[in-house]
Amino acid sequence: MSHDSTTVPADRPECSTSWLARAGLRPTRQRRALADLLLAGGNRHLTAETLHGEAREADAGVSLATVYNTLKAFTSVGLLREIVIEPGRVYYDTRNDDHPHFYHEDDGIIVDAPSGSVTFADLPEAPEGMEIASVDVVVRLRRKG
Ligand SMILES: [Zn+2]
Repeated sequence: MSHDSTTVPADRPECSTSWLARAGLRPTRQRRALADLLLAGGNRHLTAETLHGEAREADAGVSLATVYNTLKAFTSVGLLREIVIEPGRVYYDTRNDDHPHFYHEDDGIIVDAPSGSVTFADLPEAPEGMEIASVDVVVRLRRKG
């Protein structure tokens, strides 16, 4: 049982080298190792700690600090989306189009919510000189009762 979403964009590249090249990143050994893990098994939401654990299992020889830096680099070039649940709890999403999420508070699991299920009739206006870059939607769930 996986907590990954089953939604995989049709244009997802399978090869970590081309995935990195598309964003203009040099395919260093560590970046390729982490990209391979990220791209394995389709669309994923994972924390730096989870990825570090997988890297250790795969004997990738990548420190947690490197995992953090690499995830930041991947996010800054648009390969990943960052989802901040709360300070110190950040998920990285391999699906980088706009889409809402369900966060299961009881289990600490994040999954994609159906796309197109969120519409905003009236967003607050951006302050003078600013524009809205994106709107992140995380619907927090808990068990009833
Ligand atoms: Zn997602």
